[in-house]
Amino acid sequence: MTQAECVFCKIVAGQIPSAKVYEDDACIAFLDIGPLADAHLLLVPRAHYEWITDMPGEQVGVVAGRIPKLARAVLKVSDAEGFNVLQNNGRSSGQAVPHVHFHIIPRREGDGLGYRWNAG
Ligand code: 5GP
Ligand code: ZN
Repeated sequence: MTQAECVFCKIVAGQIPSAKVYEDDACIAFLDIGPLADAHLLLVPRAHYEWITDMPGEQVGVVAGRIPKLARAVLKVSDAEGFNVLQNNGRSSGQAVPHVHFHIIPRREGDGLGYRWNAG
């Protein structure tokens, strides 16, 4: 997939709609179209990078620095008891959209999502 075809670049550019909840010079956050829970957010840098290892560390710091504020908002609007931050890199990790993104996933006891990965 080229950058021109990237769905998150299109969302950043406003070429396809999204339920945007936050934006600034560096990043935007919007609701995941296939949420694992109500208020499941995606936080993405405006600039296109496929993997977090492609990004300058300072830019990772700027984008990741928005996580506490966004997670506090997620906790406030949902009745979540906790949350996961998930950031996948590469198909083998589960990355489907090749534009760096952080998932903020609200969690509740008994929500069935689990939190352990089987080792084998
Ligand atoms: P990944 O598996 O790459 O870590 O997660 C990609 C996420 O992007 C998935 O949770 C998926 O539901 C979400 N997603 C894919 N396409 C769109 C879209 O067009 N709009 C929104 N809001 N989310 C999307
Ligand atoms: Zn992109």
